[in-house]
Amino acid sequence: MHLNPYGEYAVLRAASLANDWPADRAGIVARTRERGMTMDFRVEPDDHRRTRRVLDGWLAVVDAADPPRRAELLNAQMAAVAAYPRLTDHDGEGWHLHYRDDGRPLPDVLAAVISVGTALHLTTRGMHRLGRCAAGQDAGAPCTAVVVDVTRNGRQRYCSVRCANRAAVRRHRSRAALVDARG
Ligand SMILES: [Zn+2]
Ligand SMILES: [Zn+2]
Repeated sequence: MHLNPYGEYAVLRAASLANDWPADRAGIVARTRERGMTMDFRVEPDDHRRTRRVLDGWLAVVDAADPPRRAELLNAQMAAVAAYPRLTDHDGEGWHLHYRDDGRPLPDVLAAVISVGTALHLTTRGMHRLGRCAAGQDAGAPCTAVVVDVTRNGRQRYCSVRCANRAAVRRHRSRAALVDARG
């Protein structure tokens, strides 16, 4: 796969898996295909469950209270799964870097790709550019989706246009209610 300079594909792939968790291994593989990975992996019986554990570890990074904690968690994850960078040219992708040893099973590959990709994304775009949808803080419309902010201005707060629109409607209603109350 291409780990582009900003780690964007990898971190978006992690968010896609976290926000819409596939029911089986084939679903996980299909998602990696949609998001740029071309490799085949040998099937291991625990792939689905172990990939879920990788995602749960990544969600702790998403929910970290501050940048030092976020860095600490990511450093531990990279230490556990990533290897020294290695140039590779598999499946006609062209030369690119892998931060893992060859021949690893699917969950280990995703753990390496997601942790290194997230580290690249945060260090190049900003340590705050990962979190939960701001609609989760609104009473009555909870949304816990992960937001990966890859926007130019770095101000993406909602996971979707839908959540942003619903929040705008609520703000409008609460302003209107305030005006009513004042008579
Ligand atoms: Zn590759
Ligand atoms: Zn949302």
